[in-house]
Amino acid sequence: MPVADRWFVKTQVRDHLSIIVEPSMHFLLRANIWHLRGRDRDLIVDTGLGVASLRTHLPTLFERDPLVVITHAHLDHSGGAHEFDQCHAHPLEHITNPVGGNTLRGRELADQLGLNSAQPVPEWMIKALPHPGYRPQDYTLRPARASRSLTDGQTIDLGDRELTVLHLPGHSPGSIALYDQSNRSLFSGDVIYDLDTDEQLLDDLHGSNIDDYIASMRRLQDLDIDCVYSGHGPVLQRDRCAEIIGTYLRDRTHR
Ligand SMILES: [Zn+2]
Ligand SMILES: [Zn+2]
Repeated sequence: MPVADRWFVKTQVRDHLSIIVEPSMHFLLRANIWHLRGRDRDLIVDTGLGVASLRTHLPTLFERDPLVVITHAHLDHSGGAHEFDQCHAHPLEHITNPVGGNTLRGRELADQLGLNSAQPVPEWMIKALPHPGYRPQDYTLRPARASRSLTDGQTIDLGDRELTVLHLPGHSPGSIALYDQSNRSLFSGDVIYDLDTDEQLLDDLHGSNIDDYIASMRRLQDLDIDCVYSGHGPVLQRDRCAEIIGTYLRDRTHR
């Protein structure tokens, strides 16, 4: 397997907001890490898989004692959490006791995650190594150091902006999103995203609940959303977001 030129790629999305991705991951596990610079404090939403060290590759993330929010405990979002002193998550997500893989072998990992993917699963979930000598068979999800609870309605204050926690179960029991009313944007985790493939939103994993997912989507339908910064794939604008919510509700309420 080749060695990746850069394991993490960071791109500025708008003023004060950057996205970090791991392009060498298989697309099912290639989750977005968001870095929002507030006036008083930075916010990091999700932490990637933990294959390579965020502290080594992206030291600027750690400069301003960031507030780290894990939208849910799936390993592609929580794998790097152990590098931070404090991580915030919903109490129903157990990021300190992760259930997860000890290898990046494709089929094993897909089975452990409960992925019933229509896509063929590759032998390895990575296409390149983070550094020479890395052994993908030795990957381990490391427990996060400490987690503080975030529940529905709580707010996160960065000085010049405030985000509200929305508990939106369905994909996982404690999935949360962060809503910024001032610019109608939403950090959504895996509640809503657009992979632009035949993949559906995942609601049949261990811990998923379709009725909860429907209720969460109805709640999002009533929210004024211009822009979604999701856990996977591109930024969603208002119309595409409404379309994905509408499709999900149509498919799942006419079973
Ligand atoms: Zn997930
Ligand atoms: Zn995910």
